[in-house]
Amino acid sequence: MKVLLGHDAIQARVLEMGRDIARDYASREPHLVGVLKGACTFMTDLSRAIDLSLTLDYIAVSSYGAATKSSGEVKLVKDLDQGLEGRDLLVVEDIVDTGLTLNYLLNVLRARGPRTLKVAALLSKPSRRLVEIPVDYVGFSIEDHFVVGYGLDYNEKYRNLRDIVVYGS
Ligand code: 5GP
Repeated sequence: MKVLLGHDAIQARVLEMGRDIARDYASREPHLVGVLKGACTFMTDLSRAIDLSLTLDYIAVSSYGAATKSSGEVKLVKDLDQGLEGRDLLVVEDIVDTGLTLNYLLNVLRARGPRTLKVAALLSKPSRRLVEIPVDYVGFSIEDHFVVGYGLDYNEKYRNLRDIVVYGS
């Protein structure tokens, strides 16, 4: 499969993102919420690139299926362990495609009263967007390819690839 983003390029960009986040959150303590499972690898590397005191939590969502796809309604499969009241919440996502999943999730999380809410996504496919959502930190904007690796799967496989590759290419 064709390598879209190699391991070294990913690592370099994640380090930069971590530095940007550390600068923007200086003297605050970000609370990182990773969206399982795809964002797991990114979350692990990104959190270590942020040279600040911080906390981590995870949430898992699954879409309800074709019927509600256009609404982007998602089911919380695993909720957060910790509350968000008054916290500086940074949602960590693997990829923003149509934006529907993240849009729904952000509404759920915003209702829990974080002091601030920002989003970091490793990948973004702007040409696919159906809802405008603010993504504060973007690793790479990519064309409309289906990609796997570095946490991203196809049928639960390929998450362990070090590179991000175009599936089926
Ligand atoms: P959205 O609601 O933004 O359309 O979809 C976001 C979710 O779809 C991502 O969190 C991811 O799970 C999945 N997704 C979107 N594009 C890709 C892709 O290119 N590769 C993989 N593996 N998953 C994708």
